Amino acid sequence: VSTRPSCRICGRDAFERVLDFGALPIAHRVLERRDEEEERFPFALDVCVTCGLTQILDPIDPELLYKRYNFNFSSWKPEPHLPGEIEAILGNGQVRSAIDIGCNDGLFLDRLRAAGVERVAGIEPNPYSSAIARDRGIAVYGEMVSVALCDRIVAEQGAFDLVVARQVIEHVTDLRLFLTCVDRLLAPGGFVFFDIPDFQPAARMGDCSVLWEEHVNYFTPATFARALAASGFAITQSLHYDFSGGTLAVLARRAAPVVPGDDPQTVEEALEFGRLVERYRTQVLEKLTAARAAGHALVMYGSGVRSCMLLNGLGLGDALEYALDDQPERQGRFVPGARLPIYASEKLAQETRHVVCVLAVNHENEAKVMARAGALPPGGVTFVSACVPSDIWTELERL
Ligand SMILES: [Zn+2]
Repeated sequence: VSTRPSCRICGRDAFERVLDFGALPIAHRVLERRDEEEERFPFALDVCVTCGLTQILDPIDPELLYKRYNFNFSSWKPEPHLPGEIEAILGNGQVRSAIDIGCNDGLFLDRLRAAGVERVAGIEPNPYSSAIARDRGIAVYGEMVSVALCDRIVAEQGAFDLVVARQVIEHVTDLRLFLTCVDRLLAPGGFVFFDIPDFQPAARMGDCSVLWEEHVNYFTPATFARALAASGFAITQSLHYDFSGGTLAVLARRAAPVVPGDDPQTVEEALEFGRLVERYRTQVLEKLTAARAAGHALVMYGSGVRSCMLLNGLGLGDALEYALDDQPERQGRFVPGARLPIYASEKLAQETRHVVCVLAVNHENEAKVMARAGALPPGGVTFVSACVPSDIWTELERL
């Protein structure tokens, strides 16, 4: 029996194709050898023509996608917006207890505790991250979130004034079920805090580097509000950050559920995103190919998720020679798909040609990278940012 996919917000089954990148490797599976075998999976985006949610309808099986997750990623990242988020939460009323779904290494709960929240708990299935959280003295449930788990937690220690889920709900294939879990954990009169990637800045720019096989939902402020409303939550406060290509943080409280309505404007923006990506692909490839023919060294800074999508999804891999990354764990290995070798920035010091360096790093790291790598090549370097919030079209002009 085949089932037609249905929209994760409104449940309808009419979609339009936004883009199709064919088969891509998994971005986190950095290769040990250039000729190592790797699996590829179809990557396509569709938009629900009713409510406007852009989504991956046929995601990679989570068992397969997350099974080799054997280390803790986000503890490497600086999170400059974290103090602002804590402040917004505490400005919303007294919080005596908090639970963080997908608490990772427990950093956010640790900050909440330091700010006076007496009882904190986390849910985190990744054993490496949860071990760090436990070392911080946080009670962690090491399972996938489920209604049964939430009921058990509430039976054991009561409901919570605050439920937190940061960088989680964009991975979730069953939004209704997830929000039911949130509701089970939440005390009467309590509130929830979500931090999610905001697709809108990248959608308007035509920046495909924010796409990632792990993110199955691409929320804009409008579609996220609609998703929450459908499950009986109303947003009381929204915050926007440039972090990681655009971050939306919201506070919400229980409210009467609202049946999702039509949003033709958001649908059109998603389709326009697909067209912009195609136009950008044509122009960037043309310019990179010309630069290479003129004798410049063409490299990419970054070998993570955003870099992988540019190299493999957009197809920049053939135009570039190697990748730079200052995470020692990645050096000496190869970028998935494109199989470019990964070197430390110091490699640029040996470069005799003028360097064109495509920046595929988050905004908060761009200035640091340019300061460090910019001084190295004797023949000079031109940096071109390929990621929002930079205007990637103006950047393109510098090629
Ligand atoms: Zn929909």
